Amino acid sequence: MNVAIYARVSTEWQAEHGYSIGTQIEACRKKAAEMGAFVVKEYIDDGYSGGFLERPALDSLRDAVQDGLYEAVIFHDADRMARKLIHQLILTEELEKAGCRPVFVLERFDNTPEGNMSYQMKGVFAEYERAKIRERTMRGKRAKLRAGKAICDSHIYGYDFDRGNSCYEINPAEAEVVRMIYRWYVEEMVGGCEYIAEKLNNMGIPSPSGNVSWCASSVRNLLHRPHYTGKYFANTQYHKKTGPKSYKRLPRPREEWIEMSCPQIIPAELHQKALSIKSKHRTYKVWQKNSYPALLQGVAVCGACGGSIRITGGGKRNARWYTCVNTPPRNGSKCAARLMDVVVTDALFWSVLEEICTSEETVTAYIGGRAGAECLPAIPEQNKRQKIVKRIEKIQTERTAVMSWFSQSLLSQSEATEKLASLKADESRLQNELAALENSPTSEVERLAPADICAVVRNCPASPEARRRVFLSVVEKVSVLRRDNNYGHKYLIDFDIVFK
Ligand SMILES: [Zn+2]
Repeated sequence: MNVAIYARVSTEWQAEHGYSIGTQIEACRKKAAEMGAFVVKEYIDDGYSGGFLERPALDSLRDAVQDGLYEAVIFHDADRMARKLIHQLILTEELEKAGCRPVFVLERFDNTPEGNMSYQMKGVFAEYERAKIRERTMRGKRAKLRAGKAICDSHIYGYDFDRGNSCYEINPAEAEVVRMIYRWYVEEMVGGCEYIAEKLNNMGIPSPSGNVSWCASSVRNLLHRPHYTGKYFANTQYHKKTGPKSYKRLPRPREEWIEMSCPQIIPAELHQKALSIKSKHRTYKVWQKNSYPALLQGVAVCGACGGSIRITGGGKRNARWYTCVNTPPRNGSKCAARLMDVVVTDALFWSVLEEICTSEETVTAYIGGRAGAECLPAIPEQNKRQKIVKRIEKIQTERTAVMSWFSQSLLSQSEATEKLASLKADESRLQNELAALENSPTSEVERLAPADICAVVRNCPASPEARRRVFLSVVEKVSVLRRDNNYGHKYLIDFDIVFK
């Protein structure tokens, strides 16, 4: 008689029963010897759950049975064949149809109505037993959690797990790194998660997994951990089996969550701030994707050279940058102004604007430019005035020259009179232009009242479009110059604002 042996083990089962593949095979071989049968092949599924029929070795066994290779298949017990009764019945029927009978080492069923019934009853009880065990373990886990004890070590960076008392203890060195990361991110704002990861790597601090280097997502995960505030929730998710070897994590309803506590590493407010900064970054990303209008576009000038500011963009992160038209320094034009992220600069500018608009006095001080600003932009009007003044000076030197030539008899009287008359005409025209230029800002342009500016800025909705509208209606000119040498988004920008 030709027979096959089938053995299966899922990791949990092995732990519960202590039966390895080896013991199962051993028992099955012994059974085959008792039956006086010849074992053609052994089929083994290692690490596969019995909850599903899709198992590689079982598949090839079923094919071989269909081909009529075996007269019997030896299983250690019915549970090894399949966990669910319905699967056991399907397989048994399939085997018997192909002229092959299942043989179990632990049970012996006869192909009689009574035998079938006891076989099925056994399956029903096994299924019931498993459900009971599952429920009992879950209840045990919940009770443990309610008593304030962690079920298992979740390997939270910053803590060590005390197995004896089932609780977390602070790991002083790691906790210091956690504090440092929050400080960098929230208080010093040195940069995003990418930059912090790089900084940690440069400092030679080992990553949470111990060997590989820090990456942005490990920093980001850390900023998400509620454990550091001393309070977190357990029992928030469960695993659903979706295939022979796959699980899916699903959320539990809020009322099933269990509040847990562990030693605090950072204050709750700091954690909250980090979360809000992170969500803000996400909003910025959405803005960038929708390419909202850049606040300062078309109005801002470079604080270093007076050139206009344009926008460059694209690249991998789809970020947009303000840049001076004279950068990068080319032949002739030398401006070393740094690039500025549009989103960061706009947010910074808006906060400066809001601060100025808290009171009318400060707005008044800013009308027509900040007093004593370090970086005065080269305003075209100023250039024009300087040019006129220079030309008037030139006319005066020319007049002296004409007089000296006349005295040396190099010019006739009529020539000299003509020359002097034309110079005088030029000079009076330029003087008029100069006077007009000097009076224009105060007499010709009607200025907004400081109170109006304050009100408009303060009542502006937080949308980029609304801010752009308000900006264009109150600000005449703004010069921007980035002064820091930082990486990341900790900008230090001088804004020189001229209100309308
Ligand atoms: Zn420039």
